[in-house]
Amino acid sequence: MNFADLELDPKVLQAVEEAGYTQPTPIQEQAIPHALMGKDVLGIAQTGTGKTASFTLPMISILAQGRAKARMPRSLILCPTRELAAQVAENFETYGKYHKLTMALLIGGVSFRDQDKLIDRGVDVLIATPGRLLDHFERGKLMLTGVQVMVVDEADRMLDMGFIPDLERIFGLLPFTRQTLFFSATMPPEITRLTDTFLHAPVRVEV
Ligand code: AMP
Repeated sequence: MNFADLELDPKVLQAVEEAGYTQPTPIQEQAIPHALMGKDVLGIAQTGTGKTASFTLPMISILAQGRAKARMPRSLILCPTRELAAQVAENFETYGKYHKLTMALLIGGVSFRDQDKLIDRGVDVLIATPGRLLDHFERGKLMLTGVQVMVVDEADRMLDMGFIPDLERIFGLLPFTRQTLFFSATMPPEITRLTDTFLHAPVRVEV
């Protein structure tokens, strides 16, 4: 299979070609068509499999239409660490270079004021660690009721770091009608409980 067979937005396809990728990896080949159809996806994949592009590419295609309102992000990506969040942001910059999507990275160690300014402008793609996201929410600066697509990346690492209560809280702040793309390298019982509760008829993809 080639990237061109995946029905991605043409400008996303061009950015992918310029990144030098010729063929989708197995997780991309299996996850992208379902994600583009609006389905929930449960992806069981390790780092290094190309899992990041398996959600960033369809998300850019989905978000290409429409515009964000102030303080109401249109998508949310939760990552366990600042480093991973920064990597995901780089992916959006690479693959989204022909789109004018707005992005904000909410991670610790950066001033709230700079992050507030970004949120106020309207954000298509919000990338955050769970604690920092909830800090912003509690300060009344952010609404999550406009989130169309939400991603959980490396859920099993979030479990190791004690983020499950934060994740449950964040899920409760999202609209019921949304798309969820959920990635974990392993599926311990605590993660299965989470996906059983918060994903709607997910397509399970395992590589
Ligand atoms: P990830 O598993 O998302 O951390 O990606 C691992 C590495 O694979 C990253 O450096 C990506 O840039 C690269 N990559 C992702 N998709 C492809 C692809 N289809 N072909 C070649 N390299 C890729």
